[in-house]
Amino acid sequence: MPELPEVETVRQGLLQGILNRTIEEVLIRREGLRYPFPQDLATIAGTTVIGIRRRAKYLLIDLDDDRVLLSHLGMSGRYTLFDSDEASSAPHHLLATVNGGVPVSSFGERTGYGGKHDHLEFIFTDGSRAVYTDPRRFGIVDLFHRMDEPVQPLLEVLGPEPFDPWGAEDLAIALKGRKTSIKLAILDQKTVVGVGNIYACESLHRAGLSPRREARGLVKKNGQPTQRLESLVGHIKTVLDEALASGGSTLNDFASVDGTLGYFSHQFAVYGREGQPCTKDGCGGVVRRIVQSNRSTFYCPRCQR
Ligand SMILES: [Zn+2]
Repeated sequence: MPELPEVETVRQGLLQGILNRTIEEVLIRREGLRYPFPQDLATIAGTTVIGIRRRAKYLLIDLDDDRVLLSHLGMSGRYTLFDSDEASSAPHHLLATVNGGVPVSSFGERTGYGGKHDHLEFIFTDGSRAVYTDPRRFGIVDLFHRMDEPVQPLLEVLGPEPFDPWGAEDLAIALKGRKTSIKLAILDQKTVVGVGNIYACESLHRAGLSPRREARGLVKKNGQPTQRLESLVGHIKTVLDEALASGGSTLNDFASVDGTLGYFSHQFAVYGREGQPCTKDGCGGVVRRIVQSNRSTFYCPRCQR
């Protein structure tokens, strides 16, 4: 599943690829993904992309008619960009039908799956295209006026971003009195956004904190963060920074916008390493997998306390 660093990589790729381009047409090949597509999706034809922001794992594409196109990649969503030369080598509408079934694109060689999961295609006036592919169809697309952004239901429930000025004191306020485990607390998007499962496991390992520890135990009586919580916040920021620098972890289905793969995955210290030795110098522990709230947690019982 693309986590925050992957989504940021996609944002930067889209920024280079489609900023200031005018949408000529949107090809919509199914009714929706996790939710139905907005009924007025096709009305973005004629608008120009004037900005691309990220909030948590939502991409917010600013259009010049004061609307915002929201895109969430779900479990397996990705964009592939085609310049006008590449796009023009294929038939204009690229609508083919397999055995009378779902319409497919003819970009399947690049986007994968024979083009049958290319659900949306943005055609720009310069002939270039952006194709959205999502085999597992957990992605989300929404369209709203910018003035409604503060009350957009998916966005209004989100906690702070994990970069400056967010810090240990903010996390302490969020954790005070909470009996939930620290792992689940930092996965909670109301506490802080974008610390997905992989990065939560890695941050806790670096901080030497057990994922099972009660969140409230990391807050002093006066509401200030303990030293251990300060350490955890530092490691969350570092882990995410490193992942951003390497273009995300690129697990399974994920590819960044230009189709290249990131390479953070081989640097994981605990994630996906059940039964293997802990990588911390002199620890000698063995990585264990437990399940917390239906999600795998990987940690070293010896050095994470
Ligand atoms: Zn260890």
